[in-house]
Amino acid sequence: MQYVSTRGTAPVLDFEGVTLAGLASDGGLYLPQEWPRFSESEIAAMAGLPYAELAARIMTPFVAGSLSPDELQDLCDRAYGRFSHDAVTPLVQLDQQHWLLELFHGPTLAFKDVALQLLGRLFETFLKRSDDHLTIVGATSGDTGSAAIDAVAGRERIDIFMLHPKGRVSDVQRRQMTTMRAPNVHNIAVEDASFDDAQAMVKRMFRDPAMNTRFHIGAVNSINWARLMAQVVYYFAAAMQLGAPQRKVAFSVPTGNFGDVFAGYVAAKMGLPVERLIVATNVNDILHRALANGDYSAGDVTPTASPSMDIQVSSNFERLLFDCGGRDGTALARQMDGFELERAMRLTDAQRTGASGLLTSARADADAMSGAMRWAHDRAGQVIDPHTAIGLHAARAAEGIAPDIPVVTLATAHPAKFRDAVERALGTRPSLPARMGDLFGREEFCTDLPGEYDAVAAFVADRATAASPAT
Ligand SMILES: *Cc1c(COP(=O)(O)O)cnc(C)c1O
Repeated sequence: MQYVSTRGTAPVLDFEGVTLAGLASDGGLYLPQEWPRFSESEIAAMAGLPYAELAARIMTPFVAGSLSPDELQDLCDRAYGRFSHDAVTPLVQLDQQHWLLELFHGPTLAFKDVALQLLGRLFETFLKRSDDHLTIVGATSGDTGSAAIDAVAGRERIDIFMLHPKGRVSDVQRRQMTTMRAPNVHNIAVEDASFDDAQAMVKRMFRDPAMNTRFHIGAVNSINWARLMAQVVYYFAAAMQLGAPQRKVAFSVPTGNFGDVFAGYVAAKMGLPVERLIVATNVNDILHRALANGDYSAGDVTPTASPSMDIQVSSNFERLLFDCGGRDGTALARQMDGFELERAMRLTDAQRTGASGLLTSARADADAMSGAMRWAHDRAGQVIDPHTAIGLHAARAAEGIAPDIPVVTLATAHPAKFRDAVERALGTRPSLPARMGDLFGREEFCTDLPGEYDAVAAFVADRATAASPAT
């Protein structure tokens, strides 16, 4: 399988190339040159497979030329063997029509584990092959950092430096990062910084010749194609349990960077009968405005109880615009340049029509979020986290879905990860699952640094054992 950039000029790469590259060199994002497609009978034949086997079947066409089916199966077995539920992503029924797809049974209690547990192993495999090292540098508002650290801790040929804004992530999130004791894990708490400040330092490091010629700097955010690819699998798993390919299924997706819902779009492109994808946003609703009336304009971020959805711009939306807008990299590069200048753009007619065939959107404010949390609790005995509650609100508000179509809300985090918000809405405090063990008894390892680029770059340069000539 070959991959092309959404901005048209970066070199075409194979799967191994896009996994290690992350962002394309022209600033775009990589997508497969064409969508592999399963026929109805091929989908039917996959019914009932254990998750890790289904995962390998779904992903095989994407990794062709870079991994053999056996190598891929082995990686999936090891990645999904770390989940605490045998079904990996179990479904829970809420009422006649509504279901939850629990994506939080991985080691750090958020759906990001599903992709990152695989990505860590893909990195290790490809780096060994090319005798290379990777210095992962990332900024996190919480979930990505803990999932990425868990996925690469102790792996060979990888160092990870994770920046978080000091005092602005939850206790559980911070401890999941800082109590991971491994020589290749480096936590940095950036003083007097917001997530955006930390993110800006990371972006600068990628462009800094003093760093990027000495180190092979890698990314773990959802611009990495391999992450989206791994998320396609659970759309198939859920839909097939609910009757696909004979029956259509709708999904509601709590959305921030548009990675998770884009994976649902890919599943539909591959032949899964998806009735609709509902893009659920909190009050940071740039995506809802874009899909509802074509207005993609960034405002200021309002902090909410669903911090992983508090975004200004959704990187992966560019992938949708490219695919729906006729796959014209030159035109999209111009459109994105305009957006970077103005912080606003209009979707083209082709992009709007292409998107509206499959996607609708809804926005939930704090009251709607708490209301959905209480409904799930009172009606079905389910305690859900604030991100999931936004998805559930959007699912229940969606109009025009026939009563015999199941509507699946993606449950993206375990409620214990956001205990304070759950307690405010329900009056009960969810407890951490037993497998978190003594999270609050373990020693923390973290370095506080001032919010200055030079201090952070010097720290990384000093600790990165994985120096190698840039490739
Ligand atoms: C990351 C995250 C999201 C948003 O997912 P995107 O792929 O960025 O749209 C939603 N909920 C939780 C709990 C998350 O960690």
